[in-house]
Formats: sequence, C-alpha cells, structure tokens
Amino acid sequence: MRSIDTDIQMVDLKSQYLSIKDQIDQAVIETISSTAYINGPRVKQFEQELVDYHNINCVIPCANGTDALQIAIMALDLKPGDEVIVPAFTYVATAEVIGLLGLIPVMVDVDPDTFNITLSAIQKAVTPKTKLIVPVNLFGQCVDLESIVTFAKANNLYVIEDNAQSIGADFYKKDGTSVKSGTIGHISCTSFYPSKNLGCYGDGGAIFTNDEALGARIRMIANHGQSKRYYHSMIGVNSRLDSIQAAILSIKLKNLDKYCALRQKAAAYYTEALASCKELQVPKSESWSNHVYHQYTLKVPPKTRNNLQVYLKEQGIPSMIYYPVPLYKQGAFKEWVTDGFFLPVTEQLCECVISLPMHTELTDQQLAYISKHVLKFFEK
Ligand SMILES: *Cc1c(COP(=O)(O)O)cnc(C)c1O
Repeated sequence: MRSIDTDIQMVDLKSQYLSIKDQIDQAVIETISSTAYINGPRVKQFEQELVDYHNINCVIPCANGTDALQIAIMALDLKPGDEVIVPAFTYVATAEVIGLLGLIPVMVDVDPDTFNITLSAIQKAVTPKTKLIVPVNLFGQCVDLESIVTFAKANNLYVIEDNAQSIGADFYKKDGTSVKSGTIGHISCTSFYPSKNLGCYGDGGAIFTNDEALGARIRMIANHGQSKRYYHSMIGVNSRLDSIQAAILSIKLKNLDKYCALRQKAAAYYTEALASCKELQVPKSESWSNHVYHQYTLKVPPKTRNNLQVYLKEQGIPSMIYYPVPLYKQGAFKEWVTDGFFLPVTEQLCECVISLPMHTELTDQQLAYISKHVLKFFEK
C-alpha cells in the first residue's frame, strides 16, 4: 500500500476543500435555507467581489467558461463568415464556439517556449474578413495583450481574452503599472470548473468588460435577451451561475492570491529541481506577466514522453498531456481546415508536452518525490 505522503493527485480538490470545510459547509447550508437559488444575493455579492478584485467595470456571471465565450462573441454582432483568429494549441472550447456561431476559426501557431499566441502570428493571419482575435492566456500566464490590443484597435478588430486558465495573474503594462489578467481585452472570459485556479463545486463562468454598453448587452444575452422581465429584444441564452456555486466562490476568491502563491511555490520547487536536466525544458516566463501555473508543463523529447508517463504512473505519479492533438486535426473543425494545413510549433508541442501534478496542496515531500523520479527516468 502506498503511504499518504506519496498519494499524489494531478489536482487535489479534497484536501483543499477540507482546509475551508467549515466556511464552505456553512455557506452552502445558508444558501439552501435561503431558497434564493437563482440570481440571489449570493450571486450579486460574488459579482461585486469579482469587480473589486479585478478593478473592472462589469462582471456578468454565467453557467460555465464555454458559455462565457459564446455570449461574449454573440455580443459583438459579427456576421456569418467573419473570421476569428485563435491559437491552434488550446482547449477545444475556444474555437468550438466560433464554429457554433457560424464564424470561421482561423488557427495560428504559438510560441514554442511559452505556448502562447504571438502578435506576429496574428498579424500574418489577418485578412479583410478578420473581425475578432481570441488570445488564450494558456497554463497560467498572459499573452502579450497590450501589443495585441493596440494592434487590434488600430485595425478595427475586437479582442476577447480567454482567461479560463489564468485568473489571478498580473499583467505588467509598458507604463510600469500592473493590472489583473482578464481586464485588457474588450471582453474577457473565465471558467470556474472545479480544477481551474478559481474553481467551484460544479460548473460556473464569468464575463468581464470595462465597456458599460457591451456589459449591458452581455447581461441581456445571458438572460434570454431580456431587457425587462418578459420583454425580449434579442435572441439570447439561459446561462446563470447558481447561488450555491456563488457562495462557494466568494470564499475561494478570498483565498485566490494565496492559492496562486502556493502554485508558484510548487512550480519554483520543480524548476529548481529539474532545470539542470538537459533532456527536458522547464516552463519559460513572459516578461509582461507573472505565472499562476494552472499547469506546470515540461517539454521532453517526443520519443521519451510515453515512457516517462508510464514510468511516473508506476511510481504513483499522475501526469497529463495538454494537449495531444492540434485543433486543426480534430474532426470537429474539418470544414474550416484545408488539406495539409500544418503549424510546426503546435505540431511539435502536441508531441512533447507533459504536465506534472499542480495544485495548492502539494507538500515538499511530494514535490521532492515527483522531481526525483522525473530525474531518475532521464538518468536511466
Ligand atoms: C476550461 C476552459 C474553457 C471552458 O470552460 P468550461 O467552464 O469548462 O466550459 C475554455 N477555455 C479554456 C482555455 C479552458 O481551459
């Protein structure tokens, strides 16, 4: 039997819950007894807390991160056939909603060291039909958003930040000030899926904007296109964060900075232990963003990756491949992808990335055990 010290999980939701159990249990029971299950005061309160945390004008909570992206795009009034630039190396949701809305996903390559979309890749992909860019702050650090937003504004393009993996990160502006991730694009979207950096105990999401008019439109779309009860001025959707999840998230938001710091501490441990190993590459940081490590992702030689994963599993160490297949090779996108379409960096990353366990409850003992076995694999 494995000892508790080496019972390692990719994401340890249970231990984190136990550390705040009393507060959570009380908030959940109170919300249930209040019977204000939908759009209750808990949701308003959490919305205001997100406004304050991000220092942004409008936050619209919704049912999940995918809905957040869909609603944000719906608010822009794009026409079928308009092109939307997205990275090819991301979670499917980012591009899926583009196709769903009759728009054309134009996939571009990413930086080989930070895995993030770059301004130069975007510039090369722009055509007269381009209307929107959806950069993804992947794995916990921001894209070069200030440059991308400047370029977008000069070319009449919208920017929707997919911030599902990087809530809590800081973006350092060229004037020396810093702002929160998710406040730089025209709109930004996040997810409260349980394993995200700010996760609830079910599904949840939110949409952020500084533009009050856009914010009002987004709020309407998320609520059946309704301006006033039973008056519907446009086609919308039904996408709500429920009160129980909001109550949980209020407690977890108070801990978000601490959670980010714990992830950074775990990442620093890995990097210190692994950086000298020549066979692998530890995560690289952007100069314009800190890293909140939604994932701690190594690059290893493609030929070794499978064996490394098997070896780690034998030692009781889980690992994950984010992401194994470029979006343009997924059947879902075939109607938008020409034969032989190929992005070299995305292609290479899908073969060589491997993410190690990353969460707020990793002990030094566990980190030492994981690092030791990664090194041992490459010494063989
Ligand atoms: C998780 C995630 C989403 C979708 O969020 P859900 O709440 O699962 O719908 C979108 N984009 C990225 C990059 C994500 O990681």
